[in-house]
Amino acid sequence: MQKYCSEMNHYSLPLEKVFFLNIPDANVPRIVIIGGGFAGLELARSLKNKAVQIVLLDKHNYHTFQPLLYQVATAGLEPDSIGHPLRKIFKGQKNLFFRLTEVSHIDPEKKVVYSSIGELAYDKVVIATGSDTNFFGNSELQHHGMSMKSIPEALDIRSLILQNFEEALLTSDLNEREALMNVIIVGAGPTGVELAGAISELRKHILPRDYPDLDVRRMSIRLIEASPRVLSAMSEKSSADALQALESLDVEVWLDTLVESYDGRIVKTKNGRTFVAKTLIWSAGVKGAPVKGIDAEVLTRNDRIEVDEFNRIKGIGGAYAVGDVSAMIDKENPRGHAMVAQVAIQQAANLAKNILAESKGKEPTPFKYKDLGSMATIGRNRAVVDLPKGHFRGFFAWVIWMLVHVVQLIGFRNKVLVLVNWTWNYVQYARDARLIIRPFKRNAERRSR
Ligand SMILES: Cc1cc2nc3c(=O)[nH]c(=O)nc-3n(C[C@H](O)[C@H](O)[C@H](O)COP(=O)(O)OP(=O)(O)OC[C@H]3O[C@@H](n4cnc5c(N)ncnc54)[C@H](O)[C@@H]3O)c2cc1C
Repeated sequence: MQKYCSEMNHYSLPLEKVFFLNIPDANVPRIVIIGGGFAGLELARSLKNKAVQIVLLDKHNYHTFQPLLYQVATAGLEPDSIGHPLRKIFKGQKNLFFRLTEVSHIDPEKKVVYSSIGELAYDKVVIATGSDTNFFGNSELQHHGMSMKSIPEALDIRSLILQNFEEALLTSDLNEREALMNVIIVGAGPTGVELAGAISELRKHILPRDYPDLDVRRMSIRLIEASPRVLSAMSEKSSADALQALESLDVEVWLDTLVESYDGRIVKTKNGRTFVAKTLIWSAGVKGAPVKGIDAEVLTRNDRIEVDEFNRIKGIGGAYAVGDVSAMIDKENPRGHAMVAQVAIQQAANLAKNILAESKGKEPTPFKYKDLGSMATIGRNRAVVDLPKGHFRGFFAWVIWMLVHVVQLIGFRNKVLVLVNWTWNYVQYARDARLIIRPFKRNAERRSR
């Protein structure tokens, strides 16, 4: 990093600022990775023991295993079983420095990253900041609806459902009681379907025991979807199987129904229906979560950063984007790849190879996605799995779903915790994490994700 000292005037920054964050000088290129999600983690690990200095910046000091967030939201798992400390993951990786900070923006001209604890010069920057919930500009929905992109948000949902039940006990107004018990989930992708299944298990096995004074049979769980089928990104067979499973769990599924507004109690749809519920979970849209400083011209309509087939940000030297925040647009993927963990992991692994190839003067390899399939679970004993060459469902699919998730979890302790919890929950029909540890405050300013 010596060149930054001699070129200090180029940055117009005092030396101590450019070297802020207490990152030591090194004689190898500095790669700043923003975000320790699936993509950031894979990239940083793949560059272990290589001739680069890695600075990983994340606003959380842990990695979140998002596919199991819905189990935290429904009291099936403790939050610490799906979060893993980043410092533990990188213990012993000598070429990596982690700093806990939120990056506000980058300056691609000066090659500097700006964060809440200072700024840092880079040789290469990799934006791996993932995605955010997309309310499509509907501020009322955003204010009253619950989103589930992070552990704090999943805990908010858990608290809200339980708080509403506590409140339902106190009212003698039957309509209000039902409104407090009802749950609406908007968006029937994997997250919405999995949530609906898990909440229906709560309704069947837990809530009647915890609240014998309430007629829990009057609680409705509605899954509202704008398109004609659930799990629309999966095969038609999987959609049909999932719909059947949801209906057998007494989840009311409303297809071809677009939610227009929600005031905290009443949901209105475009086709003129109204539903009443004091919990609405929004899983109907995602958008990229880029940092500022990227030219608006390279941002797609849903805020993803357009990259070429090597994950290079178009028009910016030394800057890359990987995972959910990136949109690699080609003929097969006119809106970029699906925002799923495998794309993030595979893009990051390819980028690591290309960074190393480039340092040796070799040609980079274009990214090619290897589709390993997709799956979703619908309550106990049921799942659907689409593989590139086939589809299966039922108990076997559910076991496969569990195994895949346990294998992908980060950290041995987390794998054991999840397996023990799942076994306990299965045998005992239990949800022992149903604690209101951090009460959710309606109408309070939303906690950041
Ligand atoms: C509820 C839910 C369920 C899902 N289920 C599945 C599933 O079953 N299968 C599947 O394949 N995919 C699933 N996904 C999608 C999958 O989790 C994402 O595709 C994957 O996490 C993308 O990885 P990423 O590294 O791009 O982003 P992320 O994993 O989101 O990581 C982004 C990281 O960047 C950090 N960050 C963001 N902004 C800043 C900033 N300004 N400064 C510092 N740090 C920042 C965040 O703290 C985070 O650690 C699910 C997602 C959700 C939300």
